[in-house]
Amino acid sequence: AKSAGGNRFELADEEADARAITRHGLTTALPTALDRGEFFIEYQPLVHLGDGSVRGAEALVRWLHPQHGVLGPDRFIPLAEHTGLIVPLGRWVLEQSVRQAREWRERHDDAGPFRINVNLSPCQLTHPGLVQDTVDILERAGMAPDALCLEVTESALIGADDALLKPLRRLADMGVDIALDDFGTGYSNLANLRRLPVSILKLDRSFTQSMQRFPADPVDLKIVEGIVSLAHSLSLAVTVEGVETGAQAEQLRILGCDTAQGWYYARPGPPERLHELALVDATG
Ligand code: C2E
Ligand code: CA
Ligand code: CA
Ligand code: CA
Repeated sequence: AKSAGGNRFELADEEADARAITRHGLTTALPTALDRGEFFIEYQPLVHLGDGSVRGAEALVRWLHPQHGVLGPDRFIPLAEHTGLIVPLGRWVLEQSVRQAREWRERHDDAGPFRINVNLSPCQLTHPGLVQDTVDILERAGMAPDALCLEVTESALIGADDALLKPLRRLADMGVDIALDDFGTGYSNLANLRRLPVSILKLDRSFTQSMQRFPADPVDLKIVEGIVSLAHSLSLAVTVEGVETGAQAEQLRILGCDTAQGWYYARPGPPERLHELALVDATG
């Protein structure tokens, strides 16, 4: 009979094999998944912390894989970046999302400005077609650039040279908002913020999590307070992500954060869900 330890190792081996097989399978299926129409987008509302109104939504891509079911972006975005599919996939996400934003605006024209946030991979940043593709997509949808916010992770911009920042600057000059995603995890030089064409800081979920305890850790409170006041002094808005409880929302509102996103308000969902939320907001 095998020892428990032996079984454990065997199991670990099998799991590793299964993961490798899945990864291989996903890599093979990925290049044609876009043509087969297997990707879809969920939207998660962005809520104004002051008055609770829905101000926009973030587009989050998913893959409905014929064998594995719905896969989250963490399972396939790295593969898409590795294989180069991220460029056409990212373009598709942008086009779908901007069109969706236009539909919301048409249906809820009394609800105030509604903006769509779309994630940008570092590979898209270095792709020469980014600016023109974005201009074309906005034009085709008849949307002004200020309806769009592109989210770039802090880590993608650490040590970014001018060549990398140039397309972002051009987009920002056109009126597209640039948000620094996962802010606070990348150890970037805060003074560097002035150099970047960003107008929004998206505070990483880890900060929101530290607001879970009440009263929150005083050091965490000071850090968030410091980031918010620095951001505001540079005319940047602060969005917080991963808000799961009312206590977190309240704490972050008191600390001066502008916009929030998280399960407390709504999980990412199909576009129809957002119409419902907008209607609720418009009526009360
Ligand atoms: P992210 O941009 O930081 O997106 C926020 C993630 O937090 C999303 O995970 C969202 O579903 C999740 N989330 C939202 N509210 C809560 C909450 O209250 N609690 C918790 N625990 N989680 C919450 P998701 O959808 O799995 O996306 C993961 C990452 O994949 C995103 O992180 C983003 O970096 C990337 N991603 C998603 N869509 C795209 C895309 O179209 N293009 C690119 N390049 N990356 C994408
Ligand atoms: Ca994001
Ligand atoms: Ca984030
Ligand atoms: Ca309302």
